[in-house]
Amino acid sequence: MTTEYKFNAWTGQDDNAINGNLQYKEITPKPWEEDDVDVKIIYSSICGSDVSGLSGHFGPVQPDRVAGHEIAGEVVRVGSQVKDLKVGDKVGIGAQCDACGECRWCGDHRENLCPKMTFTYGGHDYPRGKAKGTQTYGGFAKYWRGPAKFAVRVPDGLDLAEAAPLCCGGLTVYAPLARYGAGTKAKEVGVVGIGGLGHMAILIGTAMGANVTAISRGTAKEAQAKELGAKNYIATSNDLKKDFEKHARSLDLIICTINPSNLPVADYASLLSPDGTIVFVGVVPEPLAISSFQLIQGQIGVAGSLIGSPADLANLFELAAKKGVHPMIEKFNMDDINTAIQGARDGKPRYRYVLVNTDNGGKL
Ligand SMILES: [Zn+2]
Ligand SMILES: [Zn+2]
Repeated sequence: MTTEYKFNAWTGQDDNAINGNLQYKEITPKPWEEDDVDVKIIYSSICGSDVSGLSGHFGPVQPDRVAGHEIAGEVVRVGSQVKDLKVGDKVGIGAQCDACGECRWCGDHRENLCPKMTFTYGGHDYPRGKAKGTQTYGGFAKYWRGPAKFAVRVPDGLDLAEAAPLCCGGLTVYAPLARYGAGTKAKEVGVVGIGGLGHMAILIGTAMGANVTAISRGTAKEAQAKELGAKNYIATSNDLKKDFEKHARSLDLIICTINPSNLPVADYASLLSPDGTIVFVGVVPEPLAISSFQLIQGQIGVAGSLIGSPADLANLFELAAKKGVHPMIEKFNMDDINTAIQGARDGKPRYRYVLVNTDNGGKL
């Protein structure tokens, strides 16, 4: 079957793509399979890893790379094997578009941990079916095609433009907040960094019933953090030991969203109460250093977290709809993507740029 719509997209051709050089052209999506959906893309936000993915930081940009993995749109075609979605449903798609479906982690509904997990763009290996080896294409486009399993229904009551940034950034912080019991077991939650991820961690942690402490350099973002719902604020300087001294053992969970080249984890871990955990969701290139003595004496842990599962995303959408979680977004017409992507490269978003396909029904 041929479709009446075209898979036109803003493609990166090389590592210079990030500098406003995305080219609009038609791409060929994966071959249609009966567990797929086609989605008309209405909104697609720009995640920090899109900037990396279009500048060659994740390896050289391959021709026709279509970035974008915070996609919100409307289902326009469903395969005969798809049970949970119908034409007209609103859905969100995050950073993962496939998994093997057979391993222990897939069986456990933790598909993000599948050894064959496939990224929404830049992947070349759908692990199942006839699309094996086909390039995966993301959301800087008019349409998206992929396994329905990874298109999660957006409930009524959640603004579709605000749902987009929840698909990767929001999910990345929500999954560890949920796993470590934010609002229940972990009443006191620290969020390091107030950017794309950090601002959503404050909003979501607060919506989960935790007392959030925002931790950021200087006092510039204090008022903003409190507006987002943070109860407390710790301003950091060049002397973290002194900054953190009076807050020792005050936090049950810390979500670290920043990615400096190195990070003194031992200082941050001094903020943890016994049984507390500091979770990394931002990449810190230099190895982390902490003594086993500190881990034992504090009875604390250092952990990482990789996006989240489709089930986590469904739970996040429910929470956001029920509690009114509103990521701070700034909209751009997707036609102006080459301006927006350079702004994202330069760290300008406060805190998420959302690209809008007005011809697909998106509202600026
Ligand atoms: Zn698997
Ligand atoms: Zn992302």
